[in-house]
Parts: sequence; C-alpha cells; structure tokens
Amino acid sequence: MKKLLFQIFALLLCGVCMAVLLAACSDEPAPESGEPPAHTHAFGDWTVTTPATCTAAGVKTRSCSCGETETEEIAATGTHTYGTDNKCITCSAAWFFTEGLSYEAVGEGYAVSLGQATATEIVLPYYYNGKPVTQVAASGFASSAITDVLLTSRVTTIASDAFANTGLKTLVIPESVTSIAAGAFAGCGALEHITVITGNETYHVAGDCLIETDTGTLLLGTKNSVIPMDGSVSAIADRAFAGCVGLESISIPAAVTAIGKGAFSGCTNLAAVVFGATGGSWYVNTVAAPSGGIQVPTANAVTNAGNLTGTLVTRYWYFASAGDPGSGGTDDAKDDLFKN
Ligand SMILES: [Zn+2]
Ligand SMILES: [Zn+2]
Repeated sequence: MKKLLFQIFALLLCGVCMAVLLAACSDEPAPESGEPPAHTHAFGDWTVTTPATCTAAGVKTRSCSCGETETEEIAATGTHTYGTDNKCITCSAAWFFTEGLSYEAVGEGYAVSLGQATATEIVLPYYYNGKPVTQVAASGFASSAITDVLLTSRVTTIASDAFANTGLKTLVIPESVTSIAAGAFAGCGALEHITVITGNETYHVAGDCLIETDTGTLLLGTKNSVIPMDGSVSAIADRAFAGCVGLESISIPAAVTAIGKGAFSGCTNLAAVVFGATGGSWYVNTVAAPSGGIQVPTANAVTNAGNLTGTLVTRYWYFASAGDPGSGGTDDAKDDLFKN
C-alpha cells in the first residue's frame, strides 16, 4: 500500500515539473520590434596559423570585418614519408636507424647485414647512399645476438638464413616484402608472434603461421602455431619449424601434400603429431639421405599416420608416395618402410 502511494506521489511530482518547464518556455520575452537587423558574419579565406605536421595537428583561422575570428584544426597526416636522406620529406623528422650496419649494392638498391653493429634491436634505414635498402642479405644477421628488427617499407626481399638462429621474439613483415626465402628465420626458437602488414599481396599470417598466399606454402611457424585446416596450406617449407623448441604438438591438415627438409628439425619438445590424411601420398623432396627427412625427436606420438606406417626411423621421418618408395637410396631397410 505504501509503495502504491509513493508511486502516485511520484507521478504527481513529475506532472508539476513538466508544467513548470512548459511555463518557462512560454514566458520567454518576445523579440522587441525595431531592433537593428542582426549582423551576419562574412568570413574571409582560411589562413594557416600553425601548419600541421606528420604527427601533430595544425590550426587555420579566418576572420570577419567585425573582428570576429574562427579557428579550425588541421589534421596531422599521421605518417612520415622518408626521402633518400632518411628524413621526412614533409616535416624533416629524421629516421633513426642502427649504426654500423653494412651494405652491399644489389640491383637498384642495397642489401643490408649486421656489419659492425652492436645493437640487439635493429632498425634498418630506408635509404643508403641515396638508394633504397631493399634486401636483407643471405645470413645477414644469422647467429647474431639480435632480439628485434624493424624492417622498413623499402624492403622487398629477405634472403636465405637472413635471421637464422637469432633470438627474434616477434616479426613484422611489411607490405612491401615480396620474397622470403625458406629458412630465412630457421632456428628462431624464441619467436612468439608473426604479423604481416595488411595490404601485402604475397604473404599472410593465419594461426601464427607465415604463409605464401598463392602457393599455400607454410614458410615459418612459431611455438604458438596452429596450421589452418581450411585447405589454405598445402605444403610446409624446408626448415619451417626448425629449432622451434617451444612447439609441443602439431596437427598437419589433410591438404598438406609436401613437407620440406628439416621442417621440424630441432623441435625437441614436439611430443604429438596428428596427420589429417590417413591414406594420402606424403613425400619430402628427397628420401635418399637422412637430411631429406623430417627430423623429430624419438619416441614421439604420431597419430593417423596412414600410409606412413613405420616411418619413424631413428630420428627422421621419411614420407614417400606409394610409387616412390625411395628405392636406390642408401639404406634398403629404410626403403622398405616406404612401401605400402
Ligand atoms: Zn562579423
Ligand atoms: Zn614527417
């Protein structure tokens, strides 16, 4: 009962409020007659009072003959565009890059390598000697102490073993990169995350796997990789997971028909491998020598190996299609294992 009374009271109170508000509106004084016509501002052209930079907003101003002024913000462009002197062509801001790197002329630009640099976090220049730094040289930073690298939007090519056996933790592939050699990042066991900048038409990342989009080749994985099961990966490149000590399990989709040399070499904690295909033809590039196999630790679980039955040999797996048992190889006992 008390509750009902309160609700009625609240409704009445609302009604009073509304009435007061309406009364206030109608009480506004009517405009007096005979007032001079209002002045309409006539503003002149905008003039830039503070130019925008690449990173900071600017200001523009315009004024009326009555003295009234208006200002408006000019948006920052948001990005620097670096010229051949590694300075922004718009705002002259300098690009600070690692000193001591070495450069070798290649094509219309330069290939870069560690040289005398002692930094562990490497920042590449956009240009050297007035020409773009377009490549990371083969083995350019291999087995060095570097932990991070910033590749510029001039880089198109990352050559074989460019960053092999380094402590890179993350990797960002710019939009400009069109060629990454297999094994360019082999042995980067600390790698946790790979990113490809949106707009790169050659590579993409899915499930933390670096994939060459057109060929469906998985070039590089990390300990966090999960190979996409949607058919977008059909091959695993040489040394794609080499030295990936944090990788504990992997599922290889049925769509994968080729696995390159040493794809899982040095994956010392890889304890479970699940094959999506149970009867397909699996093969590697060569079956004649141990280096042609996929090196894995002994005694690890292999599920759904299908016609790979018995292919766990010493520390290598050898995959061969039914018609290609690797006959003529150096080890007949191993050859037998390829037969269905
Ligand atoms: Zn005015
Ligand atoms: Zn700038």
